[in-house]
Amino acid sequence: MTKYVFGFGDGRAEGAADMRTLLGGKGANLAEMSNLGLPVPPGFTITTEVCNLYRGVGDSYPSGLDGQVEAAVREIERQTGAGFGDAGNPLLFSVRSGARASMPGMLDTVLNLGLTDATVEGLAARSGDARFAWDSYRRFIQMYGDVVLGVSHDSFEDILDRHKDARGLGLDADLAAEDWRDIAGQYLHLVREATGEAFPQVPEHQLWGAIGAVFGSWANRRAVTYRKLNGIPDDWGTAVTVQSMVFGNMGPDCATGVAFTRNPSTGERVLFGEFLINAQGEDVVAGTRTPQPLTSVAGEAPSLSESMPEAYASLTGILARLESHYRDMQDVEFTIQRNRLYVLQTRSGKRTVAAALKIAADMVEEGLIDRAEAVCRIDPDDLERLLHPTLDPKAERLVVARGLAASPGAACGRLVLDSDEAEARARAGENVILVRIETSPDDIHGMHAACGILTARGGMTSHAAVVARGMGRPCVSGAGDLKIDYAAGTVGAGGTLLSTGDTVTIDGSTGEVMRGAVPMVQPELGDDFRRLMAWADEFRTLKVRTNAESPAEARVAREFGAEGVGLCRTEHMFFDEDRIVAIRRMIMSEDENERRAALATILPMQRRDFTNLFEIMAGLPVTVRLLDPPLHEFLPRDRGALAEMARATRKPEAEVERRVSQLHELNPMLGHRGCRLGLSYPEIYEMQARAIFEAAMAAVERTGAAVTPEIMIPLAATGEELALLRARIDDVAAAVAAESGAAPDYLIGTMIELPRACLRAGDLAREAQFFSFGTNDLTQTTFGISRDDSARFLDRYLDLDILSHDPFVTLDTGGVGELISIAVERGRRARGDLKLGICGEHGGDPRSIRFCHRSGLDYVSCSPYRVPIARLAAARAALEEARAAAAEGTRR
Ligand code: PEP
Ligand code: MG
Repeated sequence: MTKYVFGFGDGRAEGAADMRTLLGGKGANLAEMSNLGLPVPPGFTITTEVCNLYRGVGDSYPSGLDGQVEAAVREIERQTGAGFGDAGNPLLFSVRSGARASMPGMLDTVLNLGLTDATVEGLAARSGDARFAWDSYRRFIQMYGDVVLGVSHDSFEDILDRHKDARGLGLDADLAAEDWRDIAGQYLHLVREATGEAFPQVPEHQLWGAIGAVFGSWANRRAVTYRKLNGIPDDWGTAVTVQSMVFGNMGPDCATGVAFTRNPSTGERVLFGEFLINAQGEDVVAGTRTPQPLTSVAGEAPSLSESMPEAYASLTGILARLESHYRDMQDVEFTIQRNRLYVLQTRSGKRTVAAALKIAADMVEEGLIDRAEAVCRIDPDDLERLLHPTLDPKAERLVVARGLAASPGAACGRLVLDSDEAEARARAGENVILVRIETSPDDIHGMHAACGILTARGGMTSHAAVVARGMGRPCVSGAGDLKIDYAAGTVGAGGTLLSTGDTVTIDGSTGEVMRGAVPMVQPELGDDFRRLMAWADEFRTLKVRTNAESPAEARVAREFGAEGVGLCRTEHMFFDEDRIVAIRRMIMSEDENERRAALATILPMQRRDFTNLFEIMAGLPVTVRLLDPPLHEFLPRDRGALAEMARATRKPEAEVERRVSQLHELNPMLGHRGCRLGLSYPEIYEMQARAIFEAAMAAVERTGAAVTPEIMIPLAATGEELALLRARIDDVAAAVAAESGAAPDYLIGTMIELPRACLRAGDLAREAQFFSFGTNDLTQTTFGISRDDSARFLDRYLDLDILSHDPFVTLDTGGVGELISIAVERGRRARGDLKLGICGEHGGDPRSIRFCHRSGLDYVSCSPYRVPIARLAAARAALEEARAAAAEGTRR
């Protein structure tokens, strides 16, 4: 029979850490910790396979599961000496989710399961603490009522608040056993009223209800959203772990907390975490009480090291052991019951990208991991966050509140108090700061849409802080002075009343909250970044170039390690005020002579542009694309500008108007553009080629470094187009050589942007020395979807899962990718040393870069700020391939 249930406890387990696919992260790690002999309360894990079976066949379980669960429960009874449903010595369980990838707080949990009207008395008697027992029972009714029976959490909270009010007690007041008993009674009544049935009093029924609810929570909205955002497949499913309860809320010698083996914000090798005395785990995560630090901090509440030195000592020992065992920073949940420490969970801790870099680099130095592993520990997409702006230290700040520096970076945007609104406003293009009293997993979409998060409650390990760090959103948590009024849409802060829509700035590195917008500056990249990047460069085989025209862009790209320019879009150089007039004069020309005269005024400017670029990229390859866009893009769009153009070009307004309408096209992207322009007006490309040759020679003279410009012809579909244009460019080169006495060195190649070009790549390669895949246009022309209009309907395609990614962001490997593969194969067959690159937006997208690596391209080219991302992604692609090859080798 299939094994669905894996037990752990008592220093052994049926599972292990490498079984996370089947047992989920939590189940696999609990088994591993048990095998290591760590103090883990005994329990068992029901596999992810059951989740899929259960959800696949209308919420019913595979046969044999009940017997396996029953046997596992008996085994825990044997280990603990307590009985499930035994009123004298009740065994209680936590029932928790555990997916293969951690999804913090997204799935459901039930604690204190097994409590009934009968067993609560037993718990009171055995613990000698009736207050604790009745508090646990009411917590259980509330959690089970909410998660399993669908009774709203708020209606339970209302009862609690009313009870406190009636007794004249404050919100944080401690209640006595009698109060909790009374509240538990009211809760039971509420459940009966709301569901029409009594609260289940048979522990086995409770257990199956909770297991079903946890499996069912895999499909709840927040979990589905989280999976979409994090690319977690729906068919992974969650495991369910049922574990015997230990209590952090049995009195002053009990506590519960969360510990990170290193600081998840900075990566520093110091213990980091929080705990609450006399509390349950949910209290720490929910952020409803302000926790205490693990290690002493001057001026703060007593630390764990001071309050419970023995438990602290065993905790530090266990943390060190876990970190060296897993060779990664761990995020550990623990509970102290009567001064005895238990570990309830360990997982790789979520961290900021700065911390990820530091931890990876430090662990290489500590000998825990090697360089390849360090490179694989950094998600290339996350690197972008390193470039998060920080507040200009010289700028004035109107600080209205302070909280905890929960996730670094600064953010500025409109204040919004609701997650749906945050999402809607962000979709409309606004920057928003989501402000909540505390966040819950239901806010996940709002947090994702926001550029910063601010909460009034919660510590450094609260939901808001953990999720924000994982998402790379700046976050200030626990800004206790904020008076948030959801109904009025206002936030009182430091004597000011802010309203929804007001601009605020938060600094997640200092915890400051400011009114208005504070100017920002780009951050410095540290040594850890440089170290990791240098290691990445050791492994990658793909070269990384940049798409750049301006000197500023080219300099930034070089600083980030670009190895040349893969695309210089020359038209971008024409939009400056002094140039556009010359271009317009060229466009208004009546004949070739007039056009040549206008172009002659542009030549020196182009030469200067290229000389600059070649000098900055000294010695590195630079691909210059000849003019690509349809000419009408350079023409005025309104009356005023039309009159202005007539004046500047010294033509009558009517003539300008006539030319504008003459150049109008219905589908300009498929119209008179790219090499078609070069064929209609060869003098344009001739001028550009001359500017390139002359600039290359000037740059060589100035820097002494060789320059081999790569002249790129856009939008070719046939070998014939290339043959004609190539002959013209060669003629210009010959003319320049005759004039200067030195022959310029250059390559001529083409962009591959049309399906026909891919299919007939052999013809094109006979005329071109290199191909650069212009995947923006190639995606547009392959799908027949306009890249400028796709936003209107692509979301729908993504919602309906017709496409898994926006194909303009992540390369459609199945379609566009197949065309690329055909072009690579046919192109190389015709010309063995054909150079191959990609310069569409996909050149900076990690998933697409993996495809480029596998397809055997020589380089990717991307915008300057994506260069580090591409370097890392290229290294990971090479390492993944090497690992896969090694695994294949062992299999054979
Ligand atoms: C492309 O089409 O992929 C490309 C890089 O060119 P552009 O974006 O300028 O059309
Ligand atoms: Mg293009």
